[in-house]
Amino acid sequence: MKCLSLGVLMLSGHESVSQLQSHLSRIYAKQNEKIGVETILMRLLEAASEVTSPFGLEEGGHGPFLRTLSWFFTFCSSDDVKIDIEQAVVRRYPELCPKCKQSGCICERTYGVAGRARHFGTSAEHFQSKAERMIANVSGDLRDLSWFSKTLSDIYLVNLARWKVNRYYFPTKLLRETGKLANGYRCYLNARDTAGKSHAKVRLENDAADFFAWLIAYWQLTASELPNANLQDRFVARYGNGCPYCHQIECACSPAMTRTNRAQIARLEDLDDNDDNKRKIEELIGDIINSLDQFPELDKKYKLELRQQKPAKEISLTLNKILGGLDKVDKASTSVENVVRKAGLLQSLLDSFIL
Ligand SMILES: [Zn+2]
Ligand SMILES: [Zn+2]
Repeated sequence: MKCLSLGVLMLSGHESVSQLQSHLSRIYAKQNEKIGVETILMRLLEAASEVTSPFGLEEGGHGPFLRTLSWFFTFCSSDDVKIDIEQAVVRRYPELCPKCKQSGCICERTYGVAGRARHFGTSAEHFQSKAERMIANVSGDLRDLSWFSKTLSDIYLVNLARWKVNRYYFPTKLLRETGKLANGYRCYLNARDTAGKSHAKVRLENDAADFFAWLIAYWQLTASELPNANLQDRFVARYGNGCPYCHQIECACSPAMTRTNRAQIARLEDLDDNDDNKRKIEELIGDIINSLDQFPELDKKYKLELRQQKPAKEISLTLNKILGGLDKVDKASTSVENVVRKAGLLQSLLDSFIL
């Protein structure tokens, strides 16, 4: 039997979007076989709707983006769909806007009517040949998530102005694109045994490219308010060594913990009283609350928030705030180290059932 080196299976960070897509398929292939595309779309909608939450705009809010991206990859990789995201997005957005065909979108000024933009010079033929050149990737660009973030924001500089006026425009648009993707999939299924099949596939590829473009645009704008937020780095940190929970290249989580079954908004009281994790979590929360007495600089509401047994995700956000506050406490004392260590332990226990 040929022995595969683990190094080959882990991500180094220098992977294209196509390679990230295959990597994720490798992790979840067995689980994905057990669910249909309709279920995947439902989970994609759930993840995308979570991105609309104000939590997404706070520090630590990258989780929902990564989940949305991973369910989107799963949708595209499913046997019924089979879309190479990198190719589909490059074909739809070859450093040009598909509507006005300009490298800096002018749809805002032309109200999205392509005909009005024609006199600016870029023809449909030019668009087509640019797309083909880019698909061939003669220049050998590494088209990773950062490349797409930059390329798409260069086309849509207008998004920055939109963001400043109304940031909720983006999650609204993202939900709309999720609906269009589900609709595009249904159209494709209906056309599957007809002459319109390849046309429906191209339309679905365009729907997928649009979804990706809006997700990336929204991430890029949100990331401008988060420290160290590079989507490629975040993706690699989360999935680089395989499943983030069981740490296997092919996920081997227990049935209740697989990504298809795991609940995203879980409360401590949902766990069985005899559950070891529940006991450890409660113990750590109690310890942290007691330790906070030593830090009058920290906001008193953190203790209250920890005591309230809110959903695990909110406890996790409170921990982030506490850690942020401790960062500012100017003493590298053992008591600070102690709270940081306990918060780290608690965070990983919470992560094991909220993501
Ligand atoms: Zn445009
Ligand atoms: Zn796993």
